Amino acid sequence: MHEPSHGSRRRFLRTGLTLVAGSVLATAARAQDSGDSKVEQSVVQYQTSPKDGAKCSGCVNFVAPNACKVVAGNISPEGWCVAYAPKGS
Ligand code: SF4
Repeated sequence: MHEPSHGSRRRFLRTGLTLVAGSVLATAARAQDSGDSKVEQSVVQYQTSPKDGAKCSGCVNFVAPNACKVVAGNISPEGWCVAYAPKGS
């Protein structure tokens, strides 16, 4: 009797996505270093709706009422991007 063998492509894909997110955050950090220039919304995949319950109003980078320390432009409290960092307790 033979057992079919399975590959692990899923794990490979997840590692790739983690690397992409890491390089985006590195870009955001570099933009912060070079003065007050901010990252374009498209670079951090900003969206105007929350993601899995996470949203700008709960992020350490959010500046009320509608701005962000690291992302350029008008930022909704209900928005989200890959640089999201939850406020500490
Ligand atoms: S999730 Fe955080 S870093 Fe991203 S746009 Fe909103 S406030 Fe800025």
